[in-house]
Amino acid sequence: MTVSVILLGTGSPIPDPNRAGPATLIGAGNEKYLVDAGRGVLMRLAGALVGVGELNGVLLTHLHSDHITDLNDVITSYWVLGPPEGTLTIVGPPGTQEVVDAILVSLGRDVKYRMDHHDDLNLPPLLNVIEVAEGPVSLGGNVSIECAPTDHKPVEPTVGYRFTHDGVSVVAAGDTIPCVGLDSLCEGADALVHTVIRKDIIKLSPNPRAQDILDYHSSPEEAAQTAQKSGVSTLIMTHYVPGLNLTSPAGDGQDWIDLAAQHFFGRIEVGDDLHRVEITKGE
Ligand SMILES: [Zn+2]
Repeated sequence: MTVSVILLGTGSPIPDPNRAGPATLIGAGNEKYLVDAGRGVLMRLAGALVGVGELNGVLLTHLHSDHITDLNDVITSYWVLGPPEGTLTIVGPPGTQEVVDAILVSLGRDVKYRMDHHDDLNLPPLLNVIEVAEGPVSLGGNVSIECAPTDHKPVEPTVGYRFTHDGVSVVAAGDTIPCVGLDSLCEGADALVHTVIRKDIIKLSPNPRAQDILDYHSSPEEAAQTAQKSGVSTLIMTHYVPGLNLTSPAGDGQDWIDLAAQHFFGRIEVGDDLHRVEITKGE
């Protein structure tokens, strides 16, 4: 009756020696789902003692580069190190097939090199790409998955996912501002994993590109409001901009928690890469 959430990568597009790019592992029963595949995802998956071949699917919230930089690595590693002639399922919003096709083109030479070299490698990577916008996502496991549109405009389309197993539900929001689609996913769920940025700090930056990111992400306060409104028990914040270590003397993210706690009265989690949170019904 537990769903586990592992923050594989808590970083952002800004390179950080200690934070991989956005990626979260949802584990329930014997199944494991990877949400987004940012920089260094397979290193962190190894850090979580999970082999790429154990993945039941990769679910992309959107096609921003920081969320998909290492999808090529997931594809290649699943092909070479995963179950023999196994098919990797990749779910994402419309446009995902185009991105995957382009990745396969970029991997064309590598695929040929390896197939020519390994006698037992007779097939190229086998992929099942499913484009989704709203509604149930059927992957055939014991975890039921739903998706709904989020609001990361002008980036479109974007989606969030809800994973339910044995009555425990966890929502992975991805990048979004508060919106109806996310509210619907969160209704009655137990936990919300939400990317956040510190708007109060970013507003002070003289860099115009920093200002551009303010209107399509949620702050800790906004993520907290979404969590409170929906009645989830646990809010897990990730994708810290700037990094937790840069905003508070202790570097433990307590300042992020304090901001969220003004609007959300449940359990609030932040953490470094590989931070693990167990979600149980009613906790
Ligand atoms: Zn994004």
